[in-house]
Amino acid sequence: MIYWDHAASTPPYEEVIQTMAEVMRQHYGNPSSIHRMGEDAAKLIKRSREVCAAALGVKPAEIILTSGATEGNNMAIKGTAFQYAGRGKHIITTATEHPSVYDSCLYLREHGFEVTFLDVDRKGRIHPDQLRSLIRKDTILVSIMHVNNETGAVQPLEAAGRIIKQCNPLTLFHVDGVQGFGKLHVDLQAWQADLYTLSAHKIRGPKGAGVLFRREGVQLHPLLSGGKQESGMRSGTENYPGIVAMAKAMRMAKEQLGTFGEQVGALRDELLAFIRTMPALALNSDEDGAPHIVNVSFSGMKAEVLLHSLEEHGMLVSTKSACSSKTAEPSRVLLAMGRSEEEASSAIRISMGLTNTENDVERLKDALQDAVERLTPLMTGRNE
Ligand code: PLP
Repeated sequence: MIYWDHAASTPPYEEVIQTMAEVMRQHYGNPSSIHRMGEDAAKLIKRSREVCAAALGVKPAEIILTSGATEGNNMAIKGTAFQYAGRGKHIITTATEHPSVYDSCLYLREHGFEVTFLDVDRKGRIHPDQLRSLIRKDTILVSIMHVNNETGAVQPLEAAGRIIKQCNPLTLFHVDGVQGFGKLHVDLQAWQADLYTLSAHKIRGPKGAGVLFRREGVQLHPLLSGGKQESGMRSGTENYPGIVAMAKAMRMAKEQLGTFGEQVGALRDELLAFIRTMPALALNSDEDGAPHIVNVSFSGMKAEVLLHSLEEHGMLVSTKSACSSKTAEPSRVLLAMGRSEEEASSAIRISMGLTNTENDVERLKDALQDAVERLTPLMTGRNE
């Protein structure tokens, strides 16, 4: 089997697995305990926080350790809304965010907040001028993702950050960075980001660990009540085997950033060149996007049928994103990009990483050719 679903989750580094097992075996004290084992655990967390902060170029005190990006995004969006509701109740986001951002905004809309969704163009990118026209005195938050998880579209964050701070210096800027870290350059200072979310299992770390960067001075209303860990921001006993392993993965992903862009980008370009020769297709991602995601629709073809046909060839791809692939609806992201319902229902996502090779791409090309050729008459017949 060849794994082409790296945007859903990634194979952990061997070092990450070893580190996690070692910490679980040897350090099982509760970091809040004041005896030696508790203190040892607290020290591990302190060191890991420093590594995570260094990987993002921020201060350790600005790192909140979470269970992943779903929690981080909820905390950033609802936490900002509940904290700053007295200042304003207007939030801006995009039509193509991950559900952990999009649905958090919908939740707030049901609770008295006003949410404006930025449009995207056919490449999935927002337009800074539209953002400029929408920011108001009562806009407390703008949330824009770095890289789209379905298409790989990259948002113009530096321009967005500049506009936000020019139009209203009190508006906070949140970036969902899950699909960008380790793939593209991250510059929280240049983007003027106040909040930034990561999930460890997307960068070859463990599941159940993540980071929320919160710029010094930004207050968030905590979502969890309890033992006041993470400076009161995130109650609950820390998952420090996961935290230590995540810190390792962040360091390694950062070190491999250049290699990732070159090697994975070359595989993506090779695959895109081939896909462009195929019939009846709408390409939903291209070379302007992140290096690891290819999204393509073969018209008339049900994405799920194509996915299973590719699986028979030993190729594991996905339809939409992993978390929304079980819903029958066409992709909300592709519809927002102006694709038809048919195109949005027939899209597959091929996402890759450093464990993929040129030979893998050759095998995928053969599998795609064969699957599409075999399925086209069946699908055409069924549609008649
Ligand atoms: N944001 C983006 C862009 C994602 O791709 C994902 C995961 O698919 C998330 C947030 C949520 O991450 P997790 O499922 O690890 O909480």
